[in-house]
Amino acid sequence: MTILVTGGAGYIGSHTVTDLLDYDEEVIVLDNLQKGHAQAVPPGILMRGDVRDPETLHEIFANYEIEAVIHFAADSLVGESAQEPLKYYDNNVIGAQRLLSAMQKHGVRKFVLSSTAAAYGEPQRVPIEESDQTVPTNPYGETKLAIEKMLHWCDAAYGLKSVALRYFNAAGAHPSGKIGEDHQPESHLIPIVLQVALGQREAIDIFGDDYPTTDGTCIRDYIHVMDLAQAHRLALHYLRRNNSSRVYNLGNGQGFSVKEVIAQAREVTGQAIPWLVSARRPGDPAVLVASAARAQAELGWCPAYTGLQEIIATAWNWHKHHPQGFAGV
Ligand code: UDP
Repeated sequence: MTILVTGGAGYIGSHTVTDLLDYDEEVIVLDNLQKGHAQAVPPGILMRGDVRDPETLHEIFANYEIEAVIHFAADSLVGESAQEPLKYYDNNVIGAQRLLSAMQKHGVRKFVLSSTAAAYGEPQRVPIEESDQTVPTNPYGETKLAIEKMLHWCDAAYGLKSVALRYFNAAGAHPSGKIGEDHQPESHLIPIVLQVALGQREAIDIFGDDYPTTDGTCIRDYIHVMDLAQAHRLALHYLRRNNSSRVYNLGNGQGFSVKEVIAQAREVTGQAIPWLVSARRPGDPAVLVASAARAQAELGWCPAYTGLQEIIATAWNWHKHHPQGFAGV
């Protein structure tokens, strides 16, 4: 039986594919390569195609014995989603609907969703638990929550079982340094900070230092991409042994401010990393920290990278050796 990984050439998808292969799963990847990188996927398992294309989906489900789908293929930028909400409804919601329709037609009933902490919106308390209210403050979070709701009704109607994994801030790279984060253009904090360390940018722009936090900058819960990969594998095992759908937070349960991230990156890289302060980024909550107790108890999830410094060190190992990302691979 084969695991279909959509978006498996992207950042979190490619690390999950590597992990699944290490654990002897059979995997095929469907990716339109708009944001993903063919070089991030081992040879022979990549199909180039779009998750919204019913013919492509039919071909896959007809030709492979698919046991489960792990669905990463999506647009995932908060700021862009606010400017282009329909693009997000198209790729994320319609994409998931087509994929679930194909699964339903072909009798595939296990689904793992790449979801997000953005489903919560402004938290009422931290750490955030899965049962807390979900009121997204941007279309990205809204579209992921819409997929979670679609999954609920697909379970009720068709018996399709799912695990939705709400990630907090994914960071770091594979310990081999062979794959890592490469977004064009880059918008995430840690890769940008490391681009400053590499001399590719002059300074890091801190989006607001007047938040109600200890140093005024936003606090986030950074979780290593290989720990996210582990959680997807465990979610698959969960679906193999359980008959109920579930939502899980994935985070380390510890928050770091933007200034703390920069300070740790200075230590890891030995570079000065100058900063500037600019306006707040719309839609950014002051603090996002996960309670991952449920994933630990029910999935047996045990993050291996619990310190921010070791997370940044793996990212630095990737960026230092691949200053142009996958373009240099
Ligand atoms: N951030 C920043 N400057 C940047 C990019 C990000 O100050 O150039 C801040 C951002 O406001 C947030 C944190 O860093 O508080 C993490 O942002 P990122 O985009 O990495 O992840 P997100 O929290 O949006 O998922």
